[in-house]
Amino acid sequence: QAKAQGRSRCLAFTPEMKSEPLLMLRLQSDMRRAIERDEFLLFYQPVVSLPDRRLTGFEALIRWNHAQRGLIPPATFIPIAEESGLITDLGDWVTHAACRQMRIWQDRLGPGTPLTLSINIAPAQLAHPDAWALIDHAMIHSGVDVRRMKLEVTETALAGDDDLMSHRLRGLRERGFQILIDDFGTGYSSMSRLHRFPIDGLKIDQSFIRPMLFDGDSAAIVRTIVALGKALDLDLYAEGVEDEGAAVALSRLNCEFAQGYLFAKPLPLEKADALIGEMLISPGAPPCH
Ligand code: C2E
Ligand code: MG
Ligand code: MG
Ligand code: MG
Repeated sequence: QAKAQGRSRCLAFTPEMKSEPLLMLRLQSDMRRAIERDEFLLFYQPVVSLPDRRLTGFEALIRWNHAQRGLIPPATFIPIAEESGLITDLGDWVTHAACRQMRIWQDRLGPGTPLTLSINIAPAQLAHPDAWALIDHAMIHSGVDVRRMKLEVTETALAGDDDLMSHRLRGLRERGFQILIDDFGTGYSSMSRLHRFPIDGLKIDQSFIRPMLFDGDSAAIVRTIVALGKALDLDLYAEGVEDEGAAVALSRLNCEFAQGYLFAKPLPLEKADALIGEMLISPGAPPCH
């Protein structure tokens, strides 16, 4: 009886679970058309400097404004795009859209502006044989100053062929891009890999930042990553800063950049534009809090 009940309770979930692969297939076929229909858009999350909490730039984060389903977060469709091979086209769309937007901001703020823009690069984009050509095209087409552009790659992206990946990254860095390792601490980067890859900074994963105030181990990991990054002369970024205490602790560690809901959520273009407008009105970068 109890078993039957347990099973029926489980069954209640089955239809949903069963429909999930169908949903995936559905989204996969929708995605092909979505690029042409221009259903993707970028949100921009402020990246602030510590301890002064002023805007230094943004991270571009993709959203899908699906005709029937509304705004879909990347966690839902990036994996599908990766599995189906659509990630190259999607990544190319992101690169173009981000470079185009950055060019607009650079024109508004003047060529010397320190404002930066980060883009997330999927492993398959980096491994693609045309990786450089695609990025060169976006760069040249937009006329953006690439020294203000940052490319975020995860540790897993670098897990493949060491020589190929470091060669790719070196080529991108020679073009002027800064290279950041995203979600640092969750993949595997041996010390020797970190040393071999041409990188500019580490983004400490939010899973260490969020609990750092109440979990001693997380705090110890954050301190260790900061020390490692400093020793290697890398810039340090904290992701997922949600509370005041974490911001203060990170400032004390001399972590120089931070992102998180404490400062700002990812913003639609109009709101990011409004912050740029503030930069034009009063000198210096606007505070984010
Ligand atoms: P990510 O690159 O590590 O981006 C940070 C994610 O953390 C974003 O989620 C952001 O909204 C969220 N976040 C920022 N601050 C906080 C905070 O204080 N608390 C919490 N709980 N979350 C915070 P989002 O936009 O949903 O993106 C998720 C992931 O999807 C990204 O992680 C990135 O791996 C991927 N992604 C987003 N846009 C792109 C893209 O254009 N291309 C590729 N290949 N991947 C992308
Ligand atoms: Mg990122
Ligand atoms: Mg991250
Ligand atoms: Mg440096």
